[in-house]
Amino acid sequence: MKVIYTDVLIIGGGLAGLRVATGVKERGHNAVVLSLVPPKRSHSSAAQGGMQASLANSAMGEGDNEDVHFSDTIKGSDWGADQEVARMFTHCAPKAIRELAHWGVPWSRVQKGDREAIINAKKVTISEKEEAHGLITARDFGGTKKWRTCYTSDGTGHSMLYAMDNKAHEQNIDIHERLEAIALIHEDGRCYGAVARNLMNGELVAYVSKATTIATGGYGRIYSVSTNAIICQGMGQAIALESGVATLGNMEAIQFHPTAIVPVGILTTEGCRGDGGLLLDKDGYRFMPDYEPEKKELASRDVVSRRMTEHIRKGKGVKSKYGDHLWLDITILGREHIEKNLREVKEICENFLGIDPAVDWIPVRPTQHYSMGGIRTKYTGESQTMKGLYSCGEAACWDMHGFNRLGGNSVSETVVAGMLVAEYISDFLDSKDSNMKINSIMVENFVKAEQEKLDKLLSNENGEDAYVLRRKMEEIMMDKVGIFRNGDDLKEAVEELQELLKRSKNIEVFRSKSRAANPALVNAYRTQKMIKVALTCALGAYLRQESRGAHSREDFPQRDDENWLKRTITSWPDPDQTLPSVSYEEINISKMEMPPGWRGYGKDLTHHHPMTKVRQDSVDAMKQKLEEEGRDRFEIQEALMPFKDKLPKKYQNTNERLGENR
Ligand SMILES: Cc1cc2nc3c(=O)[nH]c(=O)nc-3n(C[C@H](O)[C@H](O)[C@H](O)COP(=O)(O)OP(=O)(O)OC[C@H]3O[C@@H](n4cnc5c(N)ncnc54)[C@H](O)[C@@H]3O)c2cc1C
Repeated sequence: MKVIYTDVLIIGGGLAGLRVATGVKERGHNAVVLSLVPPKRSHSSAAQGGMQASLANSAMGEGDNEDVHFSDTIKGSDWGADQEVARMFTHCAPKAIRELAHWGVPWSRVQKGDREAIINAKKVTISEKEEAHGLITARDFGGTKKWRTCYTSDGTGHSMLYAMDNKAHEQNIDIHERLEAIALIHEDGRCYGAVARNLMNGELVAYVSKATTIATGGYGRIYSVSTNAIICQGMGQAIALESGVATLGNMEAIQFHPTAIVPVGILTTEGCRGDGGLLLDKDGYRFMPDYEPEKKELASRDVVSRRMTEHIRKGKGVKSKYGDHLWLDITILGREHIEKNLREVKEICENFLGIDPAVDWIPVRPTQHYSMGGIRTKYTGESQTMKGLYSCGEAACWDMHGFNRLGGNSVSETVVAGMLVAEYISDFLDSKDSNMKINSIMVENFVKAEQEKLDKLLSNENGEDAYVLRRKMEEIMMDKVGIFRNGDDLKEAVEELQELLKRSKNIEVFRSKSRAANPALVNAYRTQKMIKVALTCALGAYLRQESRGAHSREDFPQRDDENWLKRTITSWPDPDQTLPSVSYEEINISKMEMPPGWRGYGKDLTHHHPMTKVRQDSVDAMKQKLEEEGRDRFEIQEALMPFKDKLPKKYQNTNERLGENR
């Protein structure tokens, strides 16, 4: 049995995983990163539009700061987010983006003087200040009050990931590519690493570590059409779930992005609409202002996706052999702008649609895009129920997005969370608490158990075809756990997935019986795991009898704070169960800096919690008193909901902004 020892095992080489690795290494700890693919090919490189950080350098970002970013994030989450975590995030995002600039990310910059932009379908002139010249600029994105999304053309994730990967190499971090974690090693509620399978030769390796971090990204590929890379299959969530100890949070919170191209589902960034692009129907009519007169195309993603679906249901979609779609018109931006700021979008249109977006409208439809749910952690990134197990990035639910993520807040989250979690892990490693006595028999047993499962799949005869089960699961999720949900469909989805789960215990690997590089074998064990992940989403959605953020129940259209201001927690304590165990975690209104309110879209249907008014009155009174005493915004914030003591000391300092002195 091959065993590799390290201080920190990081499962995932995307932005989040690499940022953890560089952080712990800087604090003097060894780190090994596992990745299915070379890290530069991780899904993070697909991020196009940008990263939110309240720098307030550009003219349209003036007046922006952590408070505005925080407020946008909480409204975006439909009050599902952990407000302390959102505060930690908005405070650290400017630090993370400046660090990335230092590491080589070529952020687009402010050019002093006048420039033309398209806002609300009209040409306007924006005058950039002399003193902002050369500083990091920002574009508009959905659900934000200010232009805050910093970018490198529309290849933001690509340039961030390349810089991060180079940094990891510079620090000589061990990166083990094509090594797939297939199970956690744990005993008595303590994680000791993971069993990984070498995807090239099939060998199982035990990685034994004092701290283990899951940074494996999202689970979009449980749907038949997704903007996610094909490796976003939820394997991190699955191995946490299969431990029977670690828990997942809000798995039903799944985001659909308004503008994926039809039919393949590849994304065209929100930057298209942020830069002035319009949504049109079959008659070439701009319909969003009718539904959302204030934010129009730049309402929050969940809102735009629902409005588009509603409009298609009214018969306003464009008929095609791939189903109805709408149009995204960026011709209005002009060729020069498209070729400079939206060049990936241009290439996607040319290569996958055979059209020129400077001339032609782009066929688009809302498509599965982002996983707000994930491995439930404390603010430190540590699992609430398994010591030594950490998680961050899209894989985690720590929980700053609640039930809807704002565009640009995810790559930002990956680097902020990675930077913070690295410090908390290092503190853990520096303390006696991380001491461990390893029982080698226990480690061996975990490896043996995984080998037996693989052998069973390879030796099984007259069994089920994993590809058939997987396609069926994807269809169920797409048709019954989609943008609009209802009790009947969700109940059916849960029952059908349960049936698939039972069948998946009898999978036979057709085509090749090789133990080594064998995609059929990989698909077999991943399908078993994916169905479990899908069940946590479908069951969570079925039980949540309200609408919040991206979770929209036609039979329960109200957001119900009195009964549902809580996180869904799922776990799988007994491997023979066919359903996950579900419990709930209350979100405490009396600690909120921003008590629940109206997000500003459509009619306010919220059923409020009785505590909301109590807390709102107390927040208002506190604010008024402190303002009268002449306190500044930082002091007022601190009084309402202190968070800075939770941050590592090195990240507590106030951010600098043009025109803001403290
Ligand atoms: C098309 C698209 C565009 C986007 N654009 C933006 C944007 O403009 N702004 C924004 O904020 N967000 C954007 N997002 C979201 C954002 O890109 C992701 O949420 C984020 O990059 C996820 O980063 P991560 O590090 O958590 O995971 P990932 O980048 O997905 O990395 C996961 C890593 O885990 C590894 N892995 C997975 N399973 C295993 C396993 N079992 N064993 C070992 N390794 C494993 C993979 O190899 C990979 O290295 C976009 C998403 C999509 C789909």
